Amino acid sequence: MGSQEQPTRIAIVGGGIGGLFCSLAIHHHCSTASVPVKIDVYEQASQYKEIGAGVGVGINAARLFHKLDLGERLNAIAGHRTGVWISFRRWDTSEDIVTVPVNDSDKIRQAPCARTALLDLLKDAVEERGAATLHTKKQCKSVEDLDTSVRMHFGDSTTAEADVVIGCDGIHSAIRNQFVVDKPIFSGTIAYRGVIPIASLSTWPFQSYSVAWLAKHRHLLVFPISRNEELNIVAFVSDKPENEVADVQESWTSICDRQEVFDDFAGFDKTAQEVLSLMPEQPSKWRLNDRKPLDKWHYMDGKVILLGDSAHAMLPHLGAGAGQSMEDGWVLGRALSERLSGSRSSHFESLESTAQLYQTVRLPRAQKTQITSRAAGDTYEMQSPDMLDKSVEECVSIIAEKTRERMKWVWEEDLDVAYETARDGKGLASKATNGDKSVSGLVAANGTETAIQPVSIEAQ
Ligand SMILES: Cc1cc2nc3c(=O)[nH]c(=O)nc-3n(C[C@H](O)[C@H](O)[C@H](O)COP(=O)(O)OP(=O)(O)OC[C@H]3O[C@@H](n4cnc5c(N)ncnc54)[C@H](O)[C@@H]3O)c2cc1C
Repeated sequence: MGSQEQPTRIAIVGGGIGGLFCSLAIHHHCSTASVPVKIDVYEQASQYKEIGAGVGVGINAARLFHKLDLGERLNAIAGHRTGVWISFRRWDTSEDIVTVPVNDSDKIRQAPCARTALLDLLKDAVEERGAATLHTKKQCKSVEDLDTSVRMHFGDSTTAEADVVIGCDGIHSAIRNQFVVDKPIFSGTIAYRGVIPIASLSTWPFQSYSVAWLAKHRHLLVFPISRNEELNIVAFVSDKPENEVADVQESWTSICDRQEVFDDFAGFDKTAQEVLSLMPEQPSKWRLNDRKPLDKWHYMDGKVILLGDSAHAMLPHLGAGAGQSMEDGWVLGRALSERLSGSRSSHFESLESTAQLYQTVRLPRAQKTQITSRAAGDTYEMQSPDMLDKSVEECVSIIAEKTRERMKWVWEEDLDVAYETARDGKGLASKATNGDKSVSGLVAANGTETAIQPVSIEAQ
């Protein structure tokens, strides 16, 4: 690996939220430890841009922005809440099912943002700090083991070499696909997505918090972003016949007529209907996939490491996928900087043991989030096994019970303590209790998997 003259070359494949945050985290930890690194980010698109929609940055991830001295900038682009995180309501009457409070008076707080603004913040910070060199139009097709380094092969027939390659290339990760034989799993749910100006609503009684209207097989989630000037809309439907959703993609180019949304949400409360009426005439129609939990996140003796959705793509029902990818970046940055600064701990003897430490800290928590995200979607749409034969009235109290405290463990983890506990050998589980065998899917004709079997990590 690198020396004082030759910095360690770290390649990040994929310049989404996970990849850019990871470059900032590695730069931060290595600068603090005075370790020379050269970070390159290779993005397949022609620019570093996200389109449409919002993303909730949970307090666990917001905390990391503050550690990178980017917290104020995050707060400046975020929506703000006043004591309530989300109110779950009946779809027809808007009657409250459960309201989940949140402490939002602190400087470090929830940050629901426009994805475009969040990515711009990260990209600007990378450029201002000289954290990494950003490349575009570099679609990584494969990685090749050169023994002491890795060669990346790109779609434009060029190559590049690095000492460490971090695969941040999302749910369809080419890097993961080189080492793992599995496919994205279709959840059975599609989501209509859009963003509208809050000022365009005739009245909006939920100015500073999220609302989710819940019905059997569908729910409508809205939350204010962008200093509460815009409302992010995600309308989930889970009982579409397979032939109707076969062509729906995981992409902003997948759209439909707004009438389809009205038809699917007929009978919802009038405030909900007004929100939907303001969606674009052709809203985005999104296929919701996740991946099965994966019990190994590093390959080629630790020279290739997975991060974010490539390691643990999850359904969006906890609003936690982006936050989990940022947690990965923070922990990986700490581990790599300790290895490169010559720590004598046995965890840093090799790149592989360093990558294993990262996995030990992150995998159980990320997989628990994956599994719980599935379970949360079933709860909201009254489809969990204990609700299937129950009326809406009977389900409501179960939802309240399951949802009230659900986010606590996602938000409250102290990541640095978890890392130090694992590093110093204080008994964090070294391996998640579930592995490849515990989840299986059936590969369908369209290449996605269609069935999810239970896993052994308990959903919460
Ligand atoms: C409807 C919906 C709502 C969501 N809401 C939330 C939320 O509120 N909060 C939250 O935390 N999470 C949310 N998520 C999840 C979140 O969007 C993802 O977990 C997060 O974007 C993952 O980041 P990533 O960087 O790992 O992957 P991505 O964001 O997918 O980024 C991958 C990047 O890699 C690039 N790339 C792909 N392949 C290659 C290649 N071969 N070579 C080079 N570059 C490549 C892509 O162009 C992209 O820029 C939501 C997801 C969905 C679908």
